[in-house]
Amino acid sequence: MGKVQLTKIESYNNIDMIQTSINSMLDNSLLSKKLFDGAKVVIKTNLLMKKKPEQAVTTHPIIIECLANYFVKYNCEVIIADSPAGPFTKTSLEGIYEASGMVKAAQNSGATLNYNVSFSEVSPSDSMRLKTFNVIDVVKNADFVISAAKLKTHGMMTFTGAVKNLFGVIPGLIKAEYHFKLMNEENFAHHLIDIERYVKPDYSIIDGIEAMEGNGPSNGIKRYLGVLIGADNAYEADFIACDLVSIAFKLVPTLYLAESRNIFNKNEIVVEGIDYKALNIAPFKLPDSVDLTFLPQNTPAKLKEIIIKKLKAKPEFVHSKCISCGHCKRNCPANVISMVDNKPVVNLKDCISCFCCHEVCPADAVNIKKSLLLKLLK
Ligand code: SF4
Ligand code: SF4
Repeated sequence: MGKVQLTKIESYNNIDMIQTSINSMLDNSLLSKKLFDGAKVVIKTNLLMKKKPEQAVTTHPIIIECLANYFVKYNCEVIIADSPAGPFTKTSLEGIYEASGMVKAAQNSGATLNYNVSFSEVSPSDSMRLKTFNVIDVVKNADFVISAAKLKTHGMMTFTGAVKNLFGVIPGLIKAEYHFKLMNEENFAHHLIDIERYVKPDYSIIDGIEAMEGNGPSNGIKRYLGVLIGADNAYEADFIACDLVSIAFKLVPTLYLAESRNIFNKNEIVVEGIDYKALNIAPFKLPDSVDLTFLPQNTPAKLKEIIIKKLKAKPEFVHSKCISCGHCKRNCPANVISMVDNKPVVNLKDCISCFCCHEVCPADAVNIKKSLLLKLLK
């Protein structure tokens, strides 16, 4: 049986402490019994976009370096990989690796950075949504995969950690295509669970030393927590991370749907290390996207669908902040953004409220705007 381990880390400058914690977590993991000489270990980090480590959007490079050190010491071939938002190309990866500190993490540890942008179709028999989807080859061909996530809020999924991090195994702009096919939160969450079931990460680390609350995952508020979480099971890591910052289980579809699929049981989690409840961490500020849990449980499905459509938050573009990069337009799954005089204009009627535009905007020029009706109701 697996476990979740938590350690208190004062700062990213405390490299020895981080290395000791990661060594101890991995020595006590189920993975340690399976490692073999020459194994190909892929560290699936969360890179999302071109951001610096201190912006708390990407997994901190010191965490990645310490993870890589551990596996290099065991004579493994270690590859740092992700398919961030936007096109999955060598040029795009080069810029993101440099900005996020991954170049140095790889140099210091002896790991390699992935530049293989090929991908393949997979058809897992237990998938509940997309029966066939594309996965980047570097992950498909790995012996072991580590989900090395950042603890953040997320406009559509409420929370992003070890499970949501795995959406980055879907290549580049194909992510937008899947978003559009799946449309609503629960369909998308089922797809994330399907991806997790396919990848089955061998260990998960959540970087909660500096986390993000509010309108994450890229334009929220940086929040110091000083906690590192490691777990054999990605859902258990996410559950404890949410509990740490008081994000309710019922607001995280990847968790409550995974439990409904009997993939994990929140009542059977074994936690070791610090008593995280004693840290008394103040609850996270949630994203401004819609929380419809106030609707009665017995609301008929059709009526619920109509109400949700009316109440959903929508993106609002702030042209004075916009730098006209066009990332929002390129990443919009519903293709409802046009550039008029070099500024984005959205057709809200067909917008699916996925907030990909908010997520990829480098200038924090996309707000999540609550519907007026929802404000009146709550
Ligand atoms: S406009 Fe933004 S929130 Fe709406 S569908 Fe496009 S990316 Fe998603
Ligand atoms: S809103 Fe953001 S992502 Fe869209 S064009 Fe402007 S700066 Fe770029």
